[in-house]
Amino acid sequence: MSSNLDQLYRRVIMDHYKNPRNKGSIEDGALTIDMNNPTCGDRIHLTLQVEDGKIQNAKFDGEGCSISMASASMMTQAVKGKTVEEALQLSSTFSEMMLGKDYDDSIELEDIESLSGVSQFPARIKCATLAWKAMEKGVSLDKD
Ligand code: ZN
Repeated sequence: MSSNLDQLYRRVIMDHYKNPRNKGSIEDGALTIDMNNPTCGDRIHLTLQVEDGKIQNAKFDGEGCSISMASASMMTQAVKGKTVEEALQLSSTFSEMMLGKDYDDSIELEDIESLSGVSQFPARIKCATLAWKAMEKGVSLDKD
């Protein structure tokens, strides 16, 4: 493993990987999304509970590399309690970050910011964005 990749696996990422937040599955009335990233073998099973335009609860299950699982943990933590609109805005900020673009740093990113270094490793970007893509798909299912 290169020293650059060592730097990438920072403390925050490993903490989310080892102690994932919101692990599991919402049983009743949840939007369910399964997605995978075949290039790395990452799989995510995401359940979202959306009520009144707000993400009341978000849980994930799955397996994959530390970046994909840490990102899923951070994503569920970040979107829980947010409106769908706010969650989508956060997702688009995250994808700008992954593309190495200037992103809106007025948005509170907290732990998500620790993934910013992934943008330097194009092969890993899909690992980091998998959970966010699943969330975007999930909230789109809620529309009539
Ligand atoms: Zn991966």
